[in-house]
Amino acid sequence: MKFLVTAGPTREPLDPVRYLSNRSSGKMGYAIAQAARDAGHEVVLVSGPVSLPSVAGAQTIAVVTADEMHDAVHGALAHCDIVVMCAAVADYKSAQVAAQKIKKQPGAISLELVPTRDILASLGALPQRDFLLVGFAAETNHLEEYAKAKLRAKNCDAIVANDISGTQTGMESDENAVTIFARDGQTTHISRNSKQNVANELVKIFSNMREKCLTKNL
Ligand code: C5P
Repeated sequence: MKFLVTAGPTREPLDPVRYLSNRSSGKMGYAIAQAARDAGHEVVLVSGPVSLPSVAGAQTIAVVTADEMHDAVHGALAHCDIVVMCAAVADYKSAQVAAQKIKKQPGAISLELVPTRDILASLGALPQRDFLLVGFAAETNHLEEYAKAKLRAKNCDAIVANDISGTQTGMESDENAVTIFARDGQTTHISRNSKQNVANELVKIFSNMREKCLTKNL
C-alpha cells in the first residue's frame, strides 16, 4: 500500500528571522513512516522542520509553512491508500510577513493572526476519496470529546487521540499512549510504549481498516 504521512511542526514567518511554531518533534510521524516502510509499504513523508535523521526508503518532501505542507500533501495524493496526518500544523499565521526584520520599539505591539488552511479538513471535504484518512488530536483536556468532535468535523475515518497534559507522553517525548476513535464507533487503546512500538501497532490497525474498506466496496 502507499502511505502518505505528515510529521513535525510548521513554521509561520513573521519576518526574515522570526516565526510562530510549536513544540512538535516529529518523532511520532517519523516512527509511523518507519513502521510503514518496515511493513513493506511505499511511504511519502511530508515533513516540517525537525532534527531527526531521514527515513531511508521513504520519499521525504521537506516543507516549512502550513501552506507549503497543504500543497505538498495535495500534490502527493495520487494512488495513496492511507493518509496519516500526524503533523502539528500551526493553526494561525501572521496576516503580514515583514520583508525586513521588525525593529524593537518601546511598549507593546500587536500581531494580527489569520487562520491557516486546515489540510486534514481539506482532504475530508474532497468530493470523493480512495484513501483511508487518519487525523491526530493532541489535547490537554476533554480528550475523548474533542477528538470525536474532530473526527466528525474533519470527516476522517479515524482519529488518534493523545493526551499531552503530562510530560511522559506526547510532544517531544520518546513515548506515547493513544486512543484511536474510528468512524464506525470502534475505540482502540494503545497503552504507554515507545513511539516506535506505538507506530508499529498503528500501522497494523490502519492497514486492517483499509483492507476492511476495500472488502466492503467489493
Ligand atoms: O484542529 P486540530 O489542529 O487539533 O486538528 C489536528 C489534526 O488536524 C491533525 O491531524 C493535524 O495534522 C490536522 N491539521 C491540519 N491542518 C491544520 C491544522 C490541523 O491538517 N491547519
